[in-house]
Amino acid sequence: RKFNFSPGPAIMPESVLKKAADEMLNYQGTGISVMEMSHRSKEFEAILKGADDNLRKLLNIPDTYAILYLQGGAHYQFSAIPLNLLGDKKKADYIITGSWSERAAKEAEKYCEVNVVTKPTKFNTIPDKKEWKLSPDAAYVYMCDNETIFGVEFPDIPDTGDIPLVADMSSNFLSRPFDITKFGLVYACAQKNFGMAGLTIVVVRKDLIGNARKDTPMLMDYKLQFDSRSLYNTPSTYCIYIAALIFDWMVEQGGLEAFDKLNKEKSKTIYDAIENSNGFFYSPVDAKCRSRMNIPFLAKDTSLEKLFMEEAGKLDLIGLQGHRSVGAFRASIYNAFPLEGCKKLATFMKDFQEKHEK
Ligand code: PLP
Repeated sequence: RKFNFSPGPAIMPESVLKKAADEMLNYQGTGISVMEMSHRSKEFEAILKGADDNLRKLLNIPDTYAILYLQGGAHYQFSAIPLNLLGDKKKADYIITGSWSERAAKEAEKYCEVNVVTKPTKFNTIPDKKEWKLSPDAAYVYMCDNETIFGVEFPDIPDTGDIPLVADMSSNFLSRPFDITKFGLVYACAQKNFGMAGLTIVVVRKDLIGNARKDTPMLMDYKLQFDSRSLYNTPSTYCIYIAALIFDWMVEQGGLEAFDKLNKEKSKTIYDAIENSNGFFYSPVDAKCRSRMNIPFLAKDTSLEKLFMEEAGKLDLIGLQGHRSVGAFRASIYNAFPLEGCKKLATFMKDFQEKHEK
């Protein structure tokens, strides 16, 4: 298999793919595939419960928080969050640090006044908290913990006092331990760190559920989803099964502490390769908020970009194309991406420089 640096849908743990393949035709003696199984069956109920138990264990989620298994991708939450959390308030605070938080804020403008807490002129940094303009009457404060495109990640959790903090963790969920009780709501789509496209998990404080606007589409209403244990309509059953397998795998690997350690080592391997190139390659991101999951980098000599991609491809290093708005290269190295692949990329970068530096 190739080393796939795609930002998502992204590389999966090989053992999970093999297990899913083994169980594809006959899931645990049922004689059918999970794909063919009723979401009301006791087997599927057990899969959902297994996912729930493991996720609670991995993240230390207390009973005061609900876990919802939803569809519609992360984009659905751009609308569901204001619809559910505004209550009788008219304003929400948005910390804008990249195009995903910017898009979420634009959607929220349909429903409320959006106060931009901070927004850097270029999406390569997180402005100092002293410059933030939080409003005292906001219903919630929204942030994107890891901006996938620009590779900007919060080094710590902002303190918003009594106002619930809401985080899009689509591209760094489960990559390190964090204190869920610092948040009112956290959500993530599955196709980066815990499986396949089609599932979005929302972890939300139970007291924030039940205040949806009257015109909220029923499937976006957190209360309806909570009361029906995410089974009001047919959920994305196979995606939930794959997420359950990934949570099992994560527990086996030593939980979030183990991934935190590994992800630090993996990202350091690539950032060191960039720094050690003495400017041949460079990172566009402020050192204090560089992502451990998505590493954009550029070559000083832009004429070498095409060649870099071609030569990398020949070594089975694929998916390194940067996002069109940033350009050049981006290495996305979620939990399932092996350290070995990061080392191979670092060696390739060094060899490429030696061969092509003028
Ligand atoms: N938020 C972040 C941080 C993302 O990286 C992405 C997708 O790349 C999204 C939101 C949008 O996700 P979806 O395509 O599931 O709506």
